[in-house]
Amino acid sequence: MASILSAPYFHNEEAAYAFVERRIWPNGAVCPRCNQSDRVGKMGGQSTRTGTYKCYGCRKPFTVKVGTVFESSHVHLRLWLQAIFLIASSKKGISANQLHRTLGITLKSAWFLGHRIREAMKDDGLIVFGRGGGAVEIDETYIGRDPFKKLGRGSQHKMKVLSLVDRHTRRARSMVVDKMTMKNIAPIIKANVFAEAHLMTDQAPMYPKIGDQFAGHGVVNHSAKEYVSAADRTVHTNTVEGYFSVFKRGMKGTYQHCGHNHLNRYLSEFDFRYSYRVGNGYSDLERAEMLLKGIVGKRLTYQTAH
Ligand SMILES: [Zn+2]
Repeated sequence: MASILSAPYFHNEEAAYAFVERRIWPNGAVCPRCNQSDRVGKMGGQSTRTGTYKCYGCRKPFTVKVGTVFESSHVHLRLWLQAIFLIASSKKGISANQLHRTLGITLKSAWFLGHRIREAMKDDGLIVFGRGGGAVEIDETYIGRDPFKKLGRGSQHKMKVLSLVDRHTRRARSMVVDKMTMKNIAPIIKANVFAEAHLMTDQAPMYPKIGDQFAGHGVVNHSAKEYVSAADRTVHTNTVEGYFSVFKRGMKGTYQHCGHNHLNRYLSEFDFRYSYRVGNGYSDLERAEMLLKGIVGKRLTYQTAH
């Protein structure tokens, strides 16, 4: 088996453009201003930049980068593809420092790439969990330090994360929550979970009233050291806790200093890798392809971008 890293689009700018073009323009180059592909030609010659086309409608040149995040960056497209692959395939993530050293780009560029790639991993929230009465595990965790809260005992001064895992589709969705109260999390759960679903939570006090609004609610009593309900073996939150353990190891090892406003982006990253993991049938390369789709899917039109 050939190394994935030997693929030409990771090393050759021409091949990197061709790779991205095939995905953005499956039916041939499209002028971003005129939105037409009939009167478009590829420009050649030594002095022409890689991937430049000319539109004979508006008489302006363009590349596949126009209107995408790639346009606002001077980093070579082949290095963007390397960064996408690295972030998509490493279970615990890749720090800006690591990207800087591995790709040979400045630390500032590495930060920019990392955060834009994370942005592309953001779930559009369109898939609602628990379809057909499936089980959805919900749990909360505490991480780092919330700069807006006084340091104290317990977890009040930490940042609070709520995660949902659909046990059937095996996808995860997480968000930062200001306060772990019933009032705060009920609207989040209602927006992301079908009423026909069966919730699975621990015995935390905010869940019973929320659980009443769903078809079922299984509760496992962690304070009594119960991890799987003895009465019903399907009642547990072990899946979502498994998700937290990957997330926490990644945050500790890779992203030590994470502020409040970046935490949602990191959660998108861990959710994305979890939802498209090998165990869900995605190879590293397929996961990177999904990520690239997210980047071009967040593509702006010429009018809104300028
Ligand atoms: Zn045009």
